[in-house]
Amino acid sequence: MTLQKQLRNLMLELPPGVNLVAVSKTQPVEVIRELYDAGQRNFGENRVQELIAKQPQLPADVKWHFIGHLQRNKVKSIVPITSLIHSIDSFRLLKEVNKEASQISRRIDCLLQFHIATEETKFGLNMEEAESMLSSGEFSGLKFVNICGVMGMATYTENEAMVSREFRQLSTIFTQLKERYFSGSADFKELSMGMTSDYMLAIKEGSTLIRIGTMLFGSR
Ligand SMILES: *Cc1c(COP(=O)(O)O)cnc(C)c1O
Repeated sequence: MTLQKQLRNLMLELPPGVNLVAVSKTQPVEVIRELYDAGQRNFGENRVQELIAKQPQLPADVKWHFIGHLQRNKVKSIVPITSLIHSIDSFRLLKEVNKEASQISRRIDCLLQFHIATEETKFGLNMEEAESMLSSGEFSGLKFVNICGVMGMATYTENEAMVSREFRQLSTIFTQLKERYFSGSADFKELSMGMTSDYMLAIKEGSTLIRIGTMLFGSR
């Protein structure tokens, strides 16, 4: 099947309110442009160097999502070009984004990444860390970051009940944070969860942003 057909089929499956981030990591710009020409605008990258290399080669209205683990010393180079950073996994990282964003007077949309999987290797905050950050005076002083929701990755397993449970946990976290810290913020609305193997389960649990690579582009 062609890439464009694959995109069309996936879009037809998505209920209203669910948006697609096409995860273009490892894909060459010509392939990304094929999806761009078919109307796709949101693309996700997980490596800073790769994002920086690709961004100038594609049209300026592409919305680049940064979805990978982000090191503080690389924040400066992506702040001017990302439309949403999904992977804020520490207060120190958020402060760094705020600092670099303030330098260029640009407010950056960010998601807080939560650790919901059983695998130790995956990054993310827990609720305690998030609440201590969000209730601090220092957080309320960060004027150049805009928290738009949460992101998480489920355990890589065939066990669908387990994956659903983890997504439900993230959905609960989203609702609690919304009530406690963001009730006045119309921007706090994104629940970024679901990849090729589990996006159907994620949508059932309330995902608003799915991040799909393999299903569109084939295996890497
Ligand atoms: C690679 C990646 C995806 C996409 O995974 P697929 O299984 O190829 O759909 C989604 N989210 C993150 C954070 C990724 O690194």
